[in-house]
Amino acid sequence: ERRLAVEEADRPATTRDGRTIDVLVNVGAVQDAIDVRGANGSGLVRTEVLFGDRRTPPTVDEQVEAYRAIADALGNKPITIRTWDIGGDKPLPFLPQAKEANPFLGERGLRVFRRRPELLRDQLDAIRRTAAETPVHVMFPMVTTADEVAWALTELGPRDALEVGIMVEVPAAALRVASLARELDFVSIGTNDLTQYTTAADRTNTAVAALADGLDPAVLQLIDHVVRTAGVRVAVCGDLASDPQSAVLLAALGVTELSAVGPQVPLVKARLRQADLSQIDTAAVLAAKDADQVRGLL
Ligand code: PEP
Ligand code: MG
Repeated sequence: ERRLAVEEADRPATTRDGRTIDVLVNVGAVQDAIDVRGANGSGLVRTEVLFGDRRTPPTVDEQVEAYRAIADALGNKPITIRTWDIGGDKPLPFLPQAKEANPFLGERGLRVFRRRPELLRDQLDAIRRTAAETPVHVMFPMVTTADEVAWALTELGPRDALEVGIMVEVPAAALRVASLARELDFVSIGTNDLTQYTTAADRTNTAVAALADGLDPAVLQLIDHVVRTAGVRVAVCGDLASDPQSAVLLAALGVTELSAVGPQVPLVKARLRQADLSQIDTAAVLAAKDADQVRGLL
């Protein structure tokens, strides 16, 4: 099944009822972009992972070089560069953080830079320079309020050819996405964190792993709300998009772009080509009592 899917990887993921879904790849190293087959670009470049082994901050030049290498490996299809998403489970050696009692509820992602914007400014510089050469989307992580979006857009400055978006991974952001997205080109749902925060189950704690299920109808209801109210393009770049069965459901809910881990890209595309989205009873899925019942329906 995998061999067939890989052979057909470059064909578009058009469902049997005629909907074409963009399938992209999540990148944490340049090699991810080199190895993938059939990706329509990258829907998530995890920059804190890309430079995770650094003791000192990468220079603007070093960043441009890395972002350019990723775009190059993907045939200059659009790449979505996420600004430093540190904190929680992701420390960065060159950006030490104070110890917090609840790191996942503390200074994570964009929140970190309100008090010390220098590293973010360098990164935005590198992103703008890369965007002068190849299609780039920029995306801010862990956004909660409209004030944070306004601040990020001010830091970004002139947008030129850049497409600008935010991650929707905090339930408050999902609920008020229409107001957050007013000046944006897209939003991308981070189902890993959205699931963790919706179910109050730490994504790194195996004792509560069963609770932190991305197919929990409560999470799906938030995703549905985002698709219906965002007013802009809605992508999913969390792990739910890497599971072929869940990817079909996301497409049925109206998500038009999925970003998956490299080896899953051909499989997600193959499953979408077999799917008839009009046959999926999304109302029943959203009304299901739990994730198991959702799986049964799928
Ligand atoms: C997510 O939260 O779903 C996501 C894609 O970001 P990360 O896994 O890097 O937190
Ligand atoms: Mg996240």
